[in-house]
Amino acid sequence: MMQTLVGHTSAELTELLTSKGLPGYRGKQLGKGLYTRFLRDFEGFTDLPKALREQLAQEFTLAPCTERSIQSAPDGTEKYLLNLPDDEVIEAVYLPYDERTSVCVSSQVGCPMACSFCATGTEGLARNLTAGEIVDQLLFMQAKHPEQRISHLVLMGMGEPLLNLPNVLKALRLIHDEVGLSYRNITVSTIGVVPAMEKLAAENLPITLAVSLHAPNNTLRSELVPLNEKYPISRLLEACRDYVEATSRRITFEYVLMAGINDTEKEAHELGALLRRQPLCAVNTIPYNTTDVAARYQRPTPEAARLFREIVASYGVNITQRYEKGHRIAAACGQLKRSTLKLGSTMRPLPLLSEVPTEAVPEPGA
Ligand code: SAH
Repeated sequence: MMQTLVGHTSAELTELLTSKGLPGYRGKQLGKGLYTRFLRDFEGFTDLPKALREQLAQEFTLAPCTERSIQSAPDGTEKYLLNLPDDEVIEAVYLPYDERTSVCVSSQVGCPMACSFCATGTEGLARNLTAGEIVDQLLFMQAKHPEQRISHLVLMGMGEPLLNLPNVLKALRLIHDEVGLSYRNITVSTIGVVPAMEKLAAENLPITLAVSLHAPNNTLRSELVPLNEKYPISRLLEACRDYVEATSRRITFEYVLMAGINDTEKEAHELGALLRRQPLCAVNTIPYNTTDVAARYQRPTPEAARLFREIVASYGVNITQRYEKGHRIAAACGQLKRSTLKLGSTMRPLPLLSEVPTEAVPEPGA
C-alpha cells in the first residue's frame, strides 16, 4: 500500500519528501494544500511544478477517505459514509448551526465497549483509525463545503476515542496546528476509560471532555455500560475531579434519556444528589435515538425529559438538553451499525484493555 500524506505534519511531510529524494522544502506547501486548502488530488497543487506533482502521485496516496455515500436531512445535516483504504467504512456527520458549523467524527471502526443501547457497540471493534483517517473526515467534509468554515469538532461518531488515545492525540494536534481549529472548539467524548482519562489530563489540552454517564447508580449503569464493572461510578467521578483539577476545564456528563429505564423521577433525584458536589461540571441530556438493535430502549416524552431536567437542576446542577439534528437520516448518536455498512467483514472479539495501544500507529505504508 502506498503512503498516505494526510496524517503527517508539515515537518513530517518535509522528511517524507527528502526520504524519497524529492525536494523537502516543498513539505510546507504540501501541508498547506492538504490542511488549509483541503485539496483532494495532486492536480490541485498548482503552486508545485507539474513534474513534481506527477512524481508525488506515483509515490503517495493523498488522503485515506473516499466517498461511499452522502445523505442529507432537511435541517442541513449530512451523513457521510466514507471508505477507508482497507475497505472498512466509517461514518462522519456534518452539522450546520446558525452560529457555528460542527462535525462529528469517528475514532474507531466499530467499538469494543458493547453498551447495551448503542448500535455501534453491538458488533465489536474491527480496528482503530489512524490519525490521518480521523483528520481526513474533517478535511473531506470541509472540501465539500468550501463556503462554510467548519469551526467545531466532536469525537462522538463510531468508537471509543480513549481506547485509541495516541492516534486521537496526534489527530487533535494536526487539527489544531495545521488546520487551525481552536482546542476550545473540540470535544472528546468517552464512556469513562479511567487510565486514559488520566493520560489525557496530563496532556492538559484546553479541549472539552464529555463523559457518558447515563445512570446515577452502579446497578443501572452496569446494565447499560459494561465498562462500569471495571470503573464504577465513584472511581469515574474521582477521575473526573482529577481531570478538572489538572486542566481547569469543565466536564460535560452525557446522559441519554431512555423511557422508563433511566429517566424517572427516582433517577433524576439520584443524579442531582450524585453531582451536586462534583466540581466544574454540567449535564447534557440526549433523548434516545431508537435503533433496530434494542427495542426495549425508547425515546422519552418531552414532558418526561423536562421534568427530569427540572429535578436535577433543583440540586444546583447545570443541565441542558442537546439540540438534536440528524435523527431522520440515522446520523444521530449511536445509530450507526457496522454490518449495515460492510458485509462479510471479520470482527475481532472484544479486546482486553491491556491490548490498548500506547503508541500512535504509523500511517499505512510507513
Ligand atoms: N464512545 C464515546 C463516544 C461515542 S458516542 C462515548 O461513549 O462517549 C457519543 C454519545 O452518544 C455517547 O454519549 C453515547 O452513549 C451516545 N449514544 C449511543 N447510542 C445512542 C442512541 N441510540 N441514542 C442517543 N445517544 C446514544
